[in-house]
Amino acid sequence: MKHSVKELQVKGKKVIVRVDFNVPFKDDGSIRDDNRIVAALPTINELINKGARVILMSHLGKIDFKKEPEEIEKAKKKNSLASVAKRLSELLKQEVIFSSVTRGEELESKVAALKDGQVLLMQNSRYEKGESKNDPALSEYWASLGDAYVMDAFGSAHRAHCTTVGIPEFMKKEGKPVAYGYLVEKEIHALGRCVNPQENERPYIAILGGFKVSSKIQVIDALLKKCDNVLICGAMAYTFFRAQGYKTGNSFVEEDQLEYAKQCLNSGKIVLPVQTVVANSFDNPTDVKTVNVYDLPDGMEGMDIGPNTLDVFEGYIKNAKTIFWNGPAGVFEKEGFQAGTLGICKAIAANKGAFSVVGGGDSAAAVKQFGYSNEFSHVSTGGGASLEMIQFDGQLPGIVVLED
Ligand code: ADP
Ligand code: MG
Repeated sequence: MKHSVKELQVKGKKVIVRVDFNVPFKDDGSIRDDNRIVAALPTINELINKGARVILMSHLGKIDFKKEPEEIEKAKKKNSLASVAKRLSELLKQEVIFSSVTRGEELESKVAALKDGQVLLMQNSRYEKGESKNDPALSEYWASLGDAYVMDAFGSAHRAHCTTVGIPEFMKKEGKPVAYGYLVEKEIHALGRCVNPQENERPYIAILGGFKVSSKIQVIDALLKKCDNVLICGAMAYTFFRAQGYKTGNSFVEEDQLEYAKQCLNSGKIVLPVQTVVANSFDNPTDVKTVNVYDLPDGMEGMDIGPNTLDVFEGYIKNAKTIFWNGPAGVFEKEGFQAGTLGICKAIAANKGAFSVVGGGDSAAAVKQFGYSNEFSHVSTGGGASLEMIQFDGQLPGIVVLED
């Protein structure tokens, strides 16, 4: 059995909460979208109200420990949670104590000094090389800082790391309670409906876009088994165009996935863009045109899906009863390449009868930027996690570990 944070009796107890504060940043270093921080508030407030001493842990970005020491230091600086602590403090309307380190005297003394109802945020858990390896010594150390553990980082539940799996394993061994938070509860409930929709909830379509082709393309197999159609957009589309033998100019293509893409096409369920918006340069697009996908000019790069593609996609969206969407249709951060992503928002909003879920850090940010957050049945904070929920029938390591 799994337990809810609601059931925990934690007055005066130190509670480690794994949150997902992996927020997107603007170029100037300010937070672009605080969706994920806001999403963790119900659980944090519940614990504050219960008089717990709250220890928040989260990762932020990636740190490559194979790089030179100076590079690692740069990555650490860039991925500091300090500004997140500030934003959280504004949202909670109370002080958030920040530990600038992930182990040692500063962390331990700040934890020891916590009073009932106070909140501490530990620096980015990925400052530790061992975090992503689920290093047992690190998990044991972090677990020793708390009396209970709450998992509320849905966006990280698909990863078996110290803060998602190692800590609760140690806590369980020591007889300390572990539970899920409100966000995780809500996510499991909503995404559960996308794992295996009932017959009367079909047609079920998935819309897959974004940039992380290599990690997402493998999910298509699972989606093809569950969905009636899979609509492909974003950077991923160009790998499919190449697989069909079209020229793709400077567009991003995963050369080693071409055979796989062909197999996916054989399912007959894949729907590809028919038009694409191309630019002469990603960073400085001065020449932009809309072309048919089999006519992509040399030297140009695909940036969005084009109006005729939207017409095709709208047809599928209009008839769907269940819609799962991950990944923007185009480079929505740049003016001139937003129409595809915005058009998908509008089409989903127009289908009031469908159960619709959008997931992913950038996807959720796009939906919010365009003002469509309330038009979806659920906006998931998880990108990879929401995809893997569907791929692995809800069995994510960070969720499974919460069983007694
Ligand atoms: P999510 O965070 O929602 O899971 P991803 O991180 O996979 O989504 O992808 C988001 C990024 O994909 C956005 O920054 C967007 O600019 C980019 N993107 C979308 N379409 C393209 C494209 N055709 N070429 C390059 N980048 C793209
Ligand atoms: Mg992203």
